[in-house]
Amino acid sequence: MALKKVHGIVLSGSPAGESDIISSIFTLEEGKERFIFKGLRKSRKRPRTAAEPASIVRINYYEKENRKYKTASEFDIIEYFSSLKEEKTKLFTLCFIAEILDSTIPLNSPDEKLYRFLNSAFRTLDSTGKSLEFSVFFLAHYMRYLGVLPDLNECSCCGGENPGTIMQLNNSLVAYCEKCCETHRIKTDFAVYSLLKRYTASRFSVIETENTEKTNMYRLFLVLVEFIESYFSIKLKSKGFLTGFFKE
Ligand SMILES: [Zn+2]
Repeated sequence: MALKKVHGIVLSGSPAGESDIISSIFTLEEGKERFIFKGLRKSRKRPRTAAEPASIVRINYYEKENRKYKTASEFDIIEYFSSLKEEKTKLFTLCFIAEILDSTIPLNSPDEKLYRFLNSAFRTLDSTGKSLEFSVFFLAHYMRYLGVLPDLNECSCCGGENPGTIMQLNNSLVAYCEKCCETHRIKTDFAVYSLLKRYTASRFSVIETENTEKTNMYRLFLVLVEFIESYFSIKLKSKGFLTGFFKE
């Protein structure tokens, strides 16, 4: 039996049986895989945080065919973001992002670029004080990575320049110019559109220092979340807590 070594970002961890934990982990080498950590809930020597979302771990496992879960025989934590578990808003944001990733990343499909992006995303969330801004930034960039963001420089309807409204239409996200909005009797929303445009074009460190009206940010957050739910036909359980927090 061959021993395999992988590095991964934990996306979920659920109790299983008497003392096991089953985790969904996005590995650098093999893409998303499901691992079982035997006896970890009762272990005094091994860190339980290794099976919790956002931990970056190194795992050794023995390859056995036709197994639903790979048994993590040895593992250690390479990077752990402690502030994500200590602050409520960050914890909710982490759960929300991890749930989106676990629901949208397919099994066994390695992607080094995505791995690096997620690693740096969790590191950024750990260090920022702006969870709402970070969530919007993350959603915009993840959607661009998935190829579901429209061209923000061109009206999705007439092809004209300078669109000014973003919305969901027939299960895709579209950018409409003022004239097309008028023709189709759609309410324009320049504030939300320009926010999205800025967020996809900037680094988070730049955005972090800006002051943006919170109501616009919250509206954009809702547009992106509702689109993701509808596009992937999922209902995000962690959305409720977070929207409650952001709305305040
Ligand atoms: Zn148009």
